[in-house]
Amino acid sequence: MRVWFKFSPDIVNKAIISDAMRKFNISFNILRADITPKGGKMLIEIDGEHVNESVEYIESRGIHVDPVKKVLKRDDEKCVDCGACVSLCPVKAICIEEDWSVGIDNDLCIGCGFCTGSCPMKAITIIE
Ligand code: SF4
Ligand code: SF4
Repeated sequence: MRVWFKFSPDIVNKAIISDAMRKFNISFNILRADITPKGGKMLIEIDGEHVNESVEYIESRGIHVDPVKKVLKRDDEKCVDCGACVSLCPVKAICIEEDWSVGIDNDLCIGCGFCTGSCPMKAITIIE
């Protein structure tokens, strides 16, 4: 399951995630983290048998959890399949398809934003 964790500064120092890992035997992969003095958000991949229970636990400790369905949106009307974004993607979520169109795999995308700045048509938006 891929989720956003959103939290206020007062819980940054609490061991909520490590407690959840120990309690529910789950693994976490941090795909993206933006932490400021005003709080933070992290894009997380959670795996394990008790993911839903772990999410309930994490929410009960004060972290807001938003499931992620889509990280990136591309305006297909604007995209001209120039390919400028392809090589910049660190996780190979963008590829050139057999018909030479450019495809984006939202399941692989980690929302790093490298591709958004490269697009001459401003066709790519990160969904926050
Ligand atoms: S946001 Fe980052 S990971 Fe997602 S498609 Fe763009 S470059 Fe790849
Ligand atoms: S850089 Fe922009 S216009 Fe070019 S293929 Fe990527 S999304 Fe499409």
